[in-house]
Amino acid sequence: CGIVGYVGKRNSQRILLDGLKKLEYRGYDSAGLAVFTESGLTVKKAQGRLAVLESKLEQEPLDGTIGIGHTRWATHGKPSDVNSHPHTDNSMKFSVVHNGIIENYMTLKEELTAKGHRFVSETDTEVISHLIADLYEGDIVKAVQQAVKKMTGAFALGVLTEHEPEKLVAVRLASPLIIGVGDGENFIGSDIPAILEYTRNVYILNDGEMAVLTQNGVDLRTIEGNFISRETFYVDWDL
Ligand code: GLU
Repeated sequence: CGIVGYVGKRNSQRILLDGLKKLEYRGYDSAGLAVFTESGLTVKKAQGRLAVLESKLEQEPLDGTIGIGHTRWATHGKPSDVNSHPHTDNSMKFSVVHNGIIENYMTLKEELTAKGHRFVSETDTEVISHLIADLYEGDIVKAVQQAVKKMTGAFALGVLTEHEPEKLVAVRLASPLIIGVGDGENFIGSDIPAILEYTRNVYILNDGEMAVLTQNGVDLRTIEGNFISRETFYVDWDL
């Protein structure tokens, strides 16, 4: 139900957890993070309050400067550790957080299962990570665009891949998503409070738009791939 993401120079774990706390008002039943660490794309997730995830992370912190986080309000599949986000593919090289519903997930799941993908959760979301992995041919932006074309429903997505570890890809279709533009660091969030501690310069994504974030910049495109030029919006209010 809440998405956050960070790419920059700082340790991402604290920033992601703080962002998720700011989104708690949206309601949730589980939470999780995926961060690029020395051992690759690493996921930690847990059913329950953010405190449950935090105590897991105290024992095994995620040390890395790029990551995504999620608080889940279950729609497909009961609240559980395995159904929590982020979701990955079988290679564990793609990781996705998702708000909303993928209406045609059953059809996609059947197609991907026939191709050899093995699913571990009961969620609609898990098809996204497998679908992106299946379509990936060296360009994460293209793979996400192609995946989005195959999915129906409402979604906001944050996507990471170990193949292109400097990038964070975000997409919005009928679920809110904003981008925070910082200095040498950039953010995504379901809502402005998630990132307001770090920057006041934001892009509000419209339906059918995506953003590609790196440490040094953000570019906005339509999901068809056309670049969008837009000024950032300055947030002049406080929490
Ligand atoms: N449909 C997804 C799930 O049940 C995402 C729910 C949400 O927006 O938190 O896992």
